[in-house]
Amino acid sequence: MTAAQHIKALTSLLGDKSVVIDAGILASHLEEWRGKFHGHTDLMLTPSSTADTAKAVSYCADNDIKIVPQGGNTGLVGGSLPGLGSYKEILISMKRMNRVLEVDAANMSITAEAGCTVAALQQAAAEKGLLFPLSLASEGSCTVGGIISTNAGGMHVLRYGTTRALTLGIEAALPSGEIYQGLNALRKDNTGYALEQLLVGAEGTLGVITKATFKLVPAEIQKHTLWLAAKDPAGAVSLLAEARKATGERVSVFEIMPHAGLEFVLEHIAGTRSPLEAPSPWYILMEVASCTTDPSLAIALESWLHTALETGQITDGAMATTKQQATDFWRLRESMSEAQKHEGGSIKHDISVPVSSIPAFIKETTLLLEQQFAGCRVTPFGHVGDGNLHFNVMQPAGANTENFLAYWEAMNILVHDQVVKFGGSISAEHGIGSLKKQEQERTKPVAEITAMQAIKNALDPKNIMNPNVLFT
Ligand SMILES: Cc1cc2nc3c(=O)[nH]c(=O)nc-3n(C[C@H](O)[C@H](O)[C@H](O)COP(=O)(O)OP(=O)(O)OC[C@H]3O[C@@H](n4cnc5c(N)ncnc54)[C@H](O)[C@@H]3O)c2cc1C
Repeated sequence: MTAAQHIKALTSLLGDKSVVIDAGILASHLEEWRGKFHGHTDLMLTPSSTADTAKAVSYCADNDIKIVPQGGNTGLVGGSLPGLGSYKEILISMKRMNRVLEVDAANMSITAEAGCTVAALQQAAAEKGLLFPLSLASEGSCTVGGIISTNAGGMHVLRYGTTRALTLGIEAALPSGEIYQGLNALRKDNTGYALEQLLVGAEGTLGVITKATFKLVPAEIQKHTLWLAAKDPAGAVSLLAEARKATGERVSVFEIMPHAGLEFVLEHIAGTRSPLEAPSPWYILMEVASCTTDPSLAIALESWLHTALETGQITDGAMATTKQQATDFWRLRESMSEAQKHEGGSIKHDISVPVSSIPAFIKETTLLLEQQFAGCRVTPFGHVGDGNLHFNVMQPAGANTENFLAYWEAMNILVHDQVVKFGGSISAEHGIGSLKKQEQERTKPVAEITAMQAIKNALDPKNIMNPNVLFT
């Protein structure tokens, strides 16, 4: 329980509006999106300025009060909730700092406060004919501070990169209470350590982000959405490389799904149908986009498609001719997770390996899983364009879900060992949080963990910032 003297002092420091002790309001910040984690705290600070955020952090550091920063609370790894471990953290929510501050069309950049949603960034950019290219299903709720702290990816990483690649500058309240003034809009800055990059993916362990500046790109005004049938992941990977060349590097989405995954969608999601007549072992959802109306892109794409069909690299394909058709293709991909829920328990791994290793990774890991967990249904799908697979393993048809989910840890170990073998990452998206910290420590080289710990100790010697995540 937070001592009354601290609540009183913080109220006089920040004002009534910035100190929340109402149990009902607190409760709405303590459940994670999937309901997997339930947080606990009796105090939430909601500063409305950078100066107030720094004052709050400084007070907490002086009084050894641990803090969990929270944005939209859409992270899925137990990183945005207090009270999940042995620490009794308080929350600091950035929800009152939610404004877009500037769209600089000439510099192609956007600056916003930490609590601003991704949807608001996209909207503000679109009003100037520009695109904030990060796109993810949680974009209506997730925030500037959250996407930076988890280095969010999403659908368009293949073409535009992750949040790390889009971030130009950051302002943050450091655990010392000082304000880090790194809010620049520079594309070139060779002046030593890139401290703002250290805050990307830090999951709130090194300070509270208060503002950020991101790159924008010209809006996509020409878009082609395709649904293709491929024999195997190896074919899909080589197809991707060729499509990138043939379209002048304008492939912005390249997703693969196995036939079983599509079957589950067609069976469980109302109103869906396969775009192709004959079934295929694998499918690809591909999008090619341009910021011009130049018709040569469509011509190049059609010629590439023709060749891919002739050489047997794809066995069939459909190009959306209407917006509705494109939406229908997307719905098949976006319903994958939902459809799998209807088939019982699923053990999930959100991993990445080099794109060229995807075929061997899927083949070898599937074989190992099938040998060790008889009857399990390996159903990987995802952003092959950037090497990220949702490597989901579903329970045998009709099996007892609880018994299957008891294999969670053993299966994680098998899959993550394979990830390490292929030079990959056990967390391609979402971060480590409190969920994957043991696995991170088990799989990351000791020197890397030691260096991370040294950085954490240097910037946050009292360990007040989100102490329950990243490290065991
Ligand atoms: C439906 C759905 C789809 C998703 N799809 C994707 C996807 O495609 N790709 C992907 O990468 N992720 C995805 N995610 C997870 C993803 O991590 C987030 O949606 C997003 O990055 C989190 O933003 P948030 O504002 O909700 O952060 P929160 O969940 O509030 O916090 C996440 C982490 O960031 C820290 N943090 C938040 N704000 C600050 C701040 N101001 N300063 C310092 N630390 C801070 C928190 O302490 C926590 O550790 C998805 C989540 C959902 C629910």
